[in-house]
Amino acid sequence: MPSRNDLRPNEEAVDGPPPGDAQLRFIGVIRTPFTSRELCPRQGDAINGPECRVVLEPLWHKALKGLERYDFIELFYWLHESRRDLVLQSPKANGETTGTFALRSPVRPNPIGLSRVRLLGVEAGALRVRGLDCLNGTPLLDVKPDRCAYTPQVPPKPTAMG
Ligand code: SAM
Repeated sequence: MPSRNDLRPNEEAVDGPPPGDAQLRFIGVIRTPFTSRELCPRQGDAINGPECRVVLEPLWHKALKGLERYDFIELFYWLHESRRDLVLQSPKANGETTGTFALRSPVRPNPIGLSRVRLLGVEAGALRVRGLDCLNGTPLLDVKPDRCAYTPQVPPKPTAMG
């Protein structure tokens, strides 16, 4: 019976965390021109936004192999200056209050940000991207190819009109 730790041909492992350990490890840092939260856009713009740089820790450099095939990728990051205790939020101070899970606000129990960004280039241990909305120095959690390349199209939700 093969063990879960067996490697297939050409696979290579590093000394990563064990599977059941939910403590997140930052794998790099995001460099953007945004020096305060007020200067960040609410969501990134993959067409007209500024070029940003994603710098991976050396341990994970090899994990970028093959990413250059993609025009768009998804970046997951830790919104490290967010408070984490609100269940209801009034983001626009217009009297409208909404539950945290119905918002894309950075304020959430586990402040994970997700952006689909245009991949401009892959360098040794770093990515050049466009479409980010986070502060300079935001810690990086994960990088994935654009999910649209893999996810089957789902039909739209039926409406009352059928
Ligand atoms: N695109 C991500 C998402 O949808 O999951 C994040 C959206 S959130 C609305 C983006 C906002 O978070 C920015 O406009 C800025 O106000 C705030 N923000 C950016 N970087 C942050 C950080 N490192 N810590 C706390 N807040 C941050």
